Amino acid sequence: MDLSLVIPVYNEEESVQELAEWITRVCSAHRISFEIIFVDDGSSDSTWDKIESVAEVNQMVKGIRFRRNYGKSPALYTGFAAAKGDVVITMDGDLQDSPDEIPELVKMIRKEGYDMVSGWKKKRYDPLVKRVTSKFYNRTARWSSGIKLHDFNCGLKAYRLEVVKSIEIFGEMHRYVPMLVKEAGFRKIGEKVVEHRARKYGVTKYGLDRFIKGYLDLLTVGFITRFGKSPMHLFGSLGSLMFLIGFIMASFLGIKKLVFVSHHLRAPLITTSPFFFIALTVMIIGSFLFLTGFLGELINRNSSERNNYLIKGKVNI
Ligand code: UDP
Ligand code: MG
Repeated sequence: MDLSLVIPVYNEEESVQELAEWITRVCSAHRISFEIIFVDDGSSDSTWDKIESVAEVNQMVKGIRFRRNYGKSPALYTGFAAAKGDVVITMDGDLQDSPDEIPELVKMIRKEGYDMVSGWKKKRYDPLVKRVTSKFYNRTARWSSGIKLHDFNCGLKAYRLEVVKSIEIFGEMHRYVPMLVKEAGFRKIGEKVVEHRARKYGVTKYGLDRFIKGYLDLLTVGFITRFGKSPMHLFGSLGSLMFLIGFIMASFLGIKKLVFVSHHLRAPLITTSPFFFIALTVMIIGSFLFLTGFLGELINRNSSERNNYLIKGKVNI
């Protein structure tokens, strides 16, 4: 099979059928063999019934249904696990992404050798707040990851099958998939300007909290990609540094006291100095950071991903 489309849908009853028909039209016209995987993320409207009725008449349509609303990232993860096509394309289920982009995306992955191609909604049909904050996000994401993309969070993206099988998206991390792809060792990440459309039916599924959560996840992704495999490198160095600072301060106080005493001078009590308490606190925090590093390493030992390095090829054993 050439192509798997993974489409997370949460209360998109009006769009499902129209989207499936449009995709089928485009793929048939370009002779692309495909499957459409709708992942119903716990919809409370008739989205699942719509998926079932569309699947009855269209063999290419498949559905996965969540017990409750888990979010777009778990929906993508589950869709990726089920995907079988050589190319995997994700798109939003609200008709904001255009299926007309499919043939070009497939071509970029198959012929031009991209591991991943991200859509770039150059002209956007979203509310002003979202457009502004999104600019800000993308700038931070570009800066922290070194990946030159304009639109990290575009729902329309294409991947080689192997790429989606090698990454693990959770939480709200669908915003930073390119980082996960890069971290998994895939380097050819491209971009294509795509048509963006205004939402035709229904409402957006995200509130203002998307901005806070998104930012926290950016920190998580940054942390995981840099220190995920060796947490001790971060916590150990921070912990040692703090402990050392505290130790030097405490030693200084101790030595000062000894010098005073040895000269038979009246030395003030060590505990009257504020530096004593600062030194103590810093040493304790330092030890805790160090222990955190050890705990991180212990947790890593049990990770099923810990020895996952290989690219699956045709000739290697
Ligand atoms: N979505 C989902 N689960 C959620 C939220 C959203 O599967 O918890 C889907 C939603 O149905 C849509 C896509 O993710 O297909 C993008 O959501 P939305 O259009 O609301 O986001 P926006 O375009 O406002 O960024
Ligand atoms: Mg949308």
